[in-house]
Amino acid sequence: MIPFLSFDYQDALYRKELIDAMTEVLDSKWYIMGNRLQKFEENYAKFNDTQFALGVANGLDAITIALKVLGIKEGDEVIVPSNTYIATWIAASSLGAIPIPVEPDERTYNINPKLIEAAITEKTKAIIPVHLYGQACNMTEILEIAKKHNLFVVEDNAQAHLATWENKITGSFGDINATSFYPGKNLGALGDAGAITTNSEDLFKDARTYRNYGSNIKYHNEVIGVNSRLDELQAAVLDVKLPFLKELTDQRIAAAHHYNELLKDIPEVTIPFCEEKATHVYHVYAILIKDRDQLQKYLGEKQIGTLIHYPIPAHLQKAYAHLNYKQGDYPIAERIAKEILSLPMFPGITNEQIEYVCNSIKEYYAR
Ligand SMILES: *Cc1c(COP(=O)(O)O)cnc(C)c1O
Repeated sequence: MIPFLSFDYQDALYRKELIDAMTEVLDSKWYIMGNRLQKFEENYAKFNDTQFALGVANGLDAITIALKVLGIKEGDEVIVPSNTYIATWIAASSLGAIPIPVEPDERTYNINPKLIEAAITEKTKAIIPVHLYGQACNMTEILEIAKKHNLFVVEDNAQAHLATWENKITGSFGDINATSFYPGKNLGALGDAGAITTNSEDLFKDARTYRNYGSNIKYHNEVIGVNSRLDELQAAVLDVKLPFLKELTDQRIAAAHHYNELLKDIPEVTIPFCEEKATHVYHVYAILIKDRDQLQKYLGEKQIGTLIHYPIPAHLQKAYAHLNYKQGDYPIAERIAKEILSLPMFPGITNEQIEYVCNSIKEYYAR
């Protein structure tokens, strides 16, 4: 049995350190808004090459709070990828803004910068590029368009910790950026967690106030905020894991290269394409195939775990029925939803496991 995702290898690496860190939190009797959060925020800012980092409760809140402190409000338009996890859209919608989808580049699956300008109107306030599956978006072109049209950029970096565009780390390009530490992300907590990164002291301070009931001084509330704090336990866990991320990412990349080598000559399979100026940290190793559902079933019979990221594009979700989109409106996103398949990918996956997966795919097409 080859699981889609296994934590065994990485947990063994830092198991003792994690337990020590968690015990320390327990014994400190201080569980929210303490030293460990502050320390993790400092370390994450350094890691992400931004002046400020702010821990929040999860990735969705990170995007939402980033948009909120930029002043995004009811009736504003926010440009989002048609091919993304729905959180990107929901963040905009939850503030009353309207997500405006833009189709992906057919090779990278990331938002196609060439198509952004056509989606800009007088109401457009921001662009949210998502570094999907772990590959950095073309930030040069996105920042150029944003500058020309006076738009904010908020990177959704939930899937791409440590990826780079022209040697600069993702999560450091936008005005204010968001990430998630959901357990399965490349850097994951032992529960829900997220962060905001920015070089703007004003945005940082506004976000810090907003995440804690709009308050900096206990019982003095400056704005109507939310409760989206990152607790001490998760901050301590993330601080233990952060120094291991580079090594674990290198393992993902090596695994992806091994997959590429073994799959590249199968004509039915489209392997991931990475732009020259981008790096890819393979949060997800996704292939494109025409008969996806049958292949997935076949691999399941071979005890190989796979997933689909994502089976229904946001514009066709029931939640967005009120926007009146129909099948065919975003054909590239729709085709990806029908043909994408994510293969097992995690640090510690062995060459034998990868070879078994690839041989099974070859067998399927040789039948
Ligand atoms: C995981 C994810 C999010 C949301 O993160 P949560 O911590 O689950 O709220 C947002 N955007 C993308 C692209 C994601 O993959």
